[in-house]
Amino acid sequence: MIRNGLILLDLIKGTNVRSTKRFLDDSQYWEGDKLKEYQFNKLRDLLAEVTVSVPFYRDLYRKQGVKEISNKQALGDLSVVDRKMTMEAGERLLSKKINLKKCKIGRTGGTTGPPLRLFRDQETRSFSLAAYYRFYDWMGIEPGMPEVELWGSTEIRNQKLEIRNQKSPRTAHLVPRTSRYPVSGIRNLMVNQINNFRSYNAFSFNDEYLEEVVKKLLRFRPKLIRGYLSAILLLADYIKRNNIRGIQPIAVSSTSETLFPEYRRMIEEVFQAPLFDQYGCGECNSIAFECKEHHGMHIVMEHCILEADEKDNLIVTNLDNRSQPFIRYKTGDSGTIDQAPCACGYATPRLTALHGRANENIILKDHVSVNGIFFANLMDEIGFIGNQKMLRFQIIQDKVGEITFRVEVKKELPEVDLMKLKDAFAPFFNNVIIKQHAFLDPGPSGKFRYLISRL
Ligand SMILES: [Zn+2]
Repeated sequence: MIRNGLILLDLIKGTNVRSTKRFLDDSQYWEGDKLKEYQFNKLRDLLAEVTVSVPFYRDLYRKQGVKEISNKQALGDLSVVDRKMTMEAGERLLSKKINLKKCKIGRTGGTTGPPLRLFRDQETRSFSLAAYYRFYDWMGIEPGMPEVELWGSTEIRNQKLEIRNQKSPRTAHLVPRTSRYPVSGIRNLMVNQINNFRSYNAFSFNDEYLEEVVKKLLRFRPKLIRGYLSAILLLADYIKRNNIRGIQPIAVSSTSETLFPEYRRMIEEVFQAPLFDQYGCGECNSIAFECKEHHGMHIVMEHCILEADEKDNLIVTNLDNRSQPFIRYKTGDSGTIDQAPCACGYATPRLTALHGRANENIILKDHVSVNGIFFANLMDEIGFIGNQKMLRFQIIQDKVGEITFRVEVKKELPEVDLMKLKDAFAPFFNNVIIKQHAFLDPGPSGKFRYLISRL
């Protein structure tokens, strides 16, 4: 069903996922040198374009005296760009040739910092999705197998945090929206896909809701369970505590948070299935995926260049997005890259240790635990993303249901914006203290912490 799903996806979205997947199925067996050559050619073409059509890079590289790159070592000479620089750049980060009709507009997830408005063109979406489906092959998940996603809803303000049935699955990876395609045969295909896909809102995971989720999973028998690590852990813990048997996927896949060895052990023990980690970020999506050897995540060299600096900061270059390019971009995560060959036979280096993905959670007044993505969603819903009013924010929790919301602003927020913030928080917290700052100090470690829980 994935194959049919890809035909639909390409038709509706104008992507090239199917042909890109065929390419990636072949390139995964390339030798390292061939992959590097391919990567270099893509980078050279990208730079030739951005120095002309993207004001931010044009000015940055002009200042540096960079015109083009002539050899494979030259990447290291280009300036590293961070989140703050890209937020301040705003529209200057967009290509003058951008075709908004061909772009999907989203934002960064919210685990490593305040969200940034993103424009993803067809090429970057095609490569990211194709790499993701290649990962399905690596996990042993075949087309049509039932799949469950534990994700955070993006419509939290409109939902009550209580038991409810999931009415429609999220459409992120597989399922195009039914209402937009009128042909009945194709509609049947989509119905089949929806039948094989369930999504549950991880931002509602208390015991009452988990009881409902588990009942549904026992009937649905998913072969793949994927989603936020914290949500998978909550589900695994519930299953273990209640001694529930019968949920036996082929694979579990986690994302967005640091996977410590004890978490892996616990999840694999409860589900009796291997866990596959993956790494991506909104600016580049598919960056690295774990293979069946489970010794790190193979970098998708066909789509990106991943580097680690001397302090292990991860720096990514998205080779495909010409609309809003991210070149030598500090992701906010840190990790180690291993160049040694892997027993699986793929030549690509592996991201072995990955630190810094936010693991801290904040507890709402009804004792539901949420991660940084919750706050990113909330800020998006009240229109605080990409409007330059707010640069960064930090949430500190000392007591359940109460937070201090520290916000970095260029100038003080007007009363109307403060009210908007208060209204947005009100359904979820008993007390919120809002503090405005000209600069949020990262503290002695130098790493800015987005969520701080002192519970
Ligand atoms: Zn491998």
